[in-house]
Order: sequence, then C-alpha cells, then structure tokens
Amino acid sequence: MLVVAYAVVYGFVFLFGICIGSFLNVLIYRIPLNLNPAKGRSFCPNCHNKLLPRDLVPLFSFIVLRGRCRFCGCRISPRYPLVETIGGVEALLAVFVYGLTLQALIVFAALCVLTTVAFIDIDTQEIPDRMHIVLLGLGICAVFAMPEVALMSRIIGIFAVSVPMILLDLIVKGSFGGGDIKLCAACGFLLGWRALLVGTFIAVIGGGVYGVFLLATKKKGRKAHFAFGPFLALGMAVGLLTGDAIWYAYLAAFGL
Ligand SMILES: [Zn+2]
Repeated sequence: MLVVAYAVVYGFVFLFGICIGSFLNVLIYRIPLNLNPAKGRSFCPNCHNKLLPRDLVPLFSFIVLRGRCRFCGCRISPRYPLVETIGGVEALLAVFVYGLTLQALIVFAALCVLTTVAFIDIDTQEIPDRMHIVLLGLGICAVFAMPEVALMSRIIGIFAVSVPMILLDLIVKGSFGGGDIKLCAACGFLLGWRALLVGTFIAVIGGGVYGVFLLATKKKGRKAHFAFGPFLALGMAVGLLTGDAIWYAYLAAFGL
C-alpha cells in the first residue's frame, strides 16, 4: 500500500515538474527577446500561429503532434520536451532528497533557474542579471529555511570562487564572462562555500572535457569561446542536491 502511495505522490511531483518545465521553455525563449513571459499565448516560432490549448500539454502534445507544428508542419525543437523532462526530473530529485518540504521547493526553484540560465547561455552566451537576483533571493530564503548551512559559510561562498575568477580574468582577459562570475557569487550564497567548491570542480571538469573535445574535433579554434554557464549550472545543481556530502566524503577519503 505504501508503494502505491509513494508512486502517486512521485507521479504528481513529476507532473508538477514537467508543467513548470513547460513554463521554463517560455522563459528561455522570451527573456532574451525582452518579451513578457506572462503575456500572450505561445506561438509557433516558424509560422507565428497561436498554439491551441491542447497543443500546450507538456510532453503529451509533442508526442501527439509527432514533433511537428499543427499549422505549418515544421519540426518542433526536441528541446521543448527535453526541458519539460528536465523540470520533471528536477522536481523528483528535490523531493527525493528533501521530502515534501519548504527546502525541496527552494531547491527545485533554484534548479529551475539554473536550467533557464544554462539554455539562455547556450543561445545567447549571456546570463541575464535577473537570474542572479532570483538566485540571491532564494539564498535569502535558504538562510531561514536551510540553517544547516551556516550564514558565514554562505557569505564566504559569495567570494570563494567569484574573486579568483575576477583575478584570473584580469590575468587572461575574457577568460570568464561577467555573467559566470555573478552566477558563482549568487550560487555561493545559496550553497555555502563547501557545496560551491564541489559544484565549481564539477563545472571545471565538465567544461574542460568539452573544451578538449572541441579542440580535438577542430570545431572551435584555440582562442574561441564556448558557453561555460551550462557547466556551472550543472555543477551548482549537483551541489544543491548533495549539499556538503561530497565535500565531507572527499575529505574522509583522504582521512581528513
Ligand atoms: Zn508553425
């Protein structure tokens, strides 16, 4: 019986997550164009026809329409169902780690912002400032709702990675975007410095492997830039979900 109850709860959590994921698609598309995300019905980017209500059901509509626009038949980017699925998985992970709590809601909201950051950065190579402000706001909520991370750890987190990034940027001009630096400062406050360092480590490894891949396949030259935001977002998401656990496991592995 308990299994059924869990299945129902997690089923609803996933549905909630994909609905939010659907809204993230709107944010990712509209914020860089300076369009109001709350205003006006979604439309096909190709033929500009307004979508019907039954075309707006997350995941389901994409499958029913077989990935094509009802009006012009153009292919709908697989990114839409991908972001919806990511939203669903993030909701599941947040609830799996934190239970049905206020903490889970804060963590899920932060994961949603990080997802939006990642895709906007892929599209535009920029991270809008309001993303950092929302993350900082969630950090302030976390001060009260997640006291297991000390306030001092959060304050150190603001500077722990952002300051070295600024210094590195002074030495090698343009090594990081301002958006990446601000993202690390905001996430530092949200995560505390231990989880921040874990997240940054994952981002650097991920970005490094991708950079080597680009060089090896000659897709980009040595001086070219690629969006680092998605790797930072992924690292910070792991940091959010694991908290300080990876940090302490790492220390324990060296008997510290
Ligand atoms: Zn169309």
